[in-house]
Amino acid sequence: MALRKIVEIGDAKLRKVCKPQEKFDQRLRILLDDMAQTMYKANGVGLAAPQIGILRRVVVIDVGDGLIELINPVITETEGSQSGPEGCLSVPGRSGIVTRPNKLHVKAQDAQGNEIEFDAEEFFARAVCHELDHLDGVLYVDKMDEEIFDDDEDEEYEDEEEYEEEDEEDEQ
Ligand code: ZN
Repeated sequence: MALRKIVEIGDAKLRKVCKPQEKFDQRLRILLDDMAQTMYKANGVGLAAPQIGILRRVVVIDVGDGLIELINPVITETEGSQSGPEGCLSVPGRSGIVTRPNKLHVKAQDAQGNEIEFDAEEFFARAVCHELDHLDGVLYVDKMDEEIFDDDEDEEYEDEEEYEEEDEEDEQ
């Protein structure tokens, strides 16, 4: 297993529509293992292949209930909605409120190419939506209701407002 470099917002790879994964071979196994290792090392709950520069429809998720590997995942049904905080390993140091479906039905393949399907709700559903968006070049910042600024950042912001008005404009 190897840690991969996480690409960040501004990189064109994050904006591509990824291709289906067609081969269920040793290379896929290595990719999945590397993605899991990279996700855990970064304290993430999900990682999509384009986040390490691989434009394939491959995702790993672990919201605390164990590792899930999804190949060519598709959301086939949604129900309800939820609004909550979201961040992204490719958008470091930021977070925002995003509205997502509250429940999903998902179809995908596993690492061997077997068809799988399952229901997801609440935070798990949010993670699935977030990671699947990555496969179509969509980032949460594209659909967030509002950005979240924590208290420390607010203070910093006020300081800058007071003393360096030009810097404040650069941030927006
Ligand atoms: Zn993300």
